[in-house]
Amino acid sequence: MKKILLVTGGGRGIGAAISRLGAKQGYAVAVNYHSDKNAAEALAQEIGGIAIQGDVSKPEDVTRMFNETEKHLGKVTHVANNAGVTGKSSKLVDAEISTIRDVIDINLLGKIFVAREAVKRMSTRLGGSGGAIVNLSSAAALLGSPHEYVWYAASKGGVESLTYGLAKEVAEEGIRVNAVVPGMIETEIHEKSTGDAARVERIRPNIPMKRIGLPEEIAEAVMFLLSDASSYTTGACLRVSGGR
Ligand code: NAP
Repeated sequence: MKKILLVTGGGRGIGAAISRLGAKQGYAVAVNYHSDKNAAEALAQEIGGIAIQGDVSKPEDVTRMFNETEKHLGKVTHVANNAGVTGKSSKLVDAEISTIRDVIDINLLGKIFVAREAVKRMSTRLGGSGGAIVNLSSAAALLGSPHEYVWYAASKGGVESLTYGLAKEVAEEGIRVNAVVPGMIETEIHEKSTGDAARVERIRPNIPMKRIGLPEEIAEAVMFLLSDASSYTTGACLRVSGGR
């Protein structure tokens, strides 16, 4: 069966590493992006996939993303539900309501909308051929991210609940649902949220392995959970965090 992988937020950071590894492993890849068209189109060209604009927090965009993927590559069989933001870091009392709302919209509602659309198309009960979904959580779900972005941590707690519940709901419909739970990974997300390039170095001593992870190390875990190598695994949240 042809393997068609949709990676949300697939043009940069962890998503780009997933898109590259997926292509290397023989998947046809649809690289979703929100604003960075250049990055997504360059990557799609590099890996022989397609780039699709769409905001995961808008259900109509999500439906269009799946339709466009189906039109150009074929029916989506695998989803890396990756897109995410933290918002500008601060204590909760100082955070703008719009920041909190955007993060919950993108990280939690967005992942729910993408998973819902994937189930509609993959479910054997609804005429599909099955598939696999991997959600990107964060070590923040348990650590809570005090003084930085507790709303982000809360959104990731929701992503893990989504994973546990949906995995059980669709287990008999040929769909596996798992999550990868990254610790601190080298991407632009940190500097964007805090404007503090030194933050990563400050946190490093608290990581048992004493180093930051690479996007490629997260991609390996995501592709394992998407692949048949994990055929009996569903509802798992796999921590990839250097022991943190
Ligand atoms: P990143 O480098 O900042 O990239 C974020 C990606 O999300 C970009 O591709 C961006 O698209 C996309 N995106 C943002 N809003 C979107 C929207 N509304 N619709 C569609 N796409 C949207 O972040 P990252 O570090 O790779 O993070 C990827 C995932 O891993 C996130 O879920 C994040 O929470 C999680 N994670 C990261 C870390 C870490 O340390 N880096 C740790 C734990 C969990 P554009 O390129 O178009 O802007």
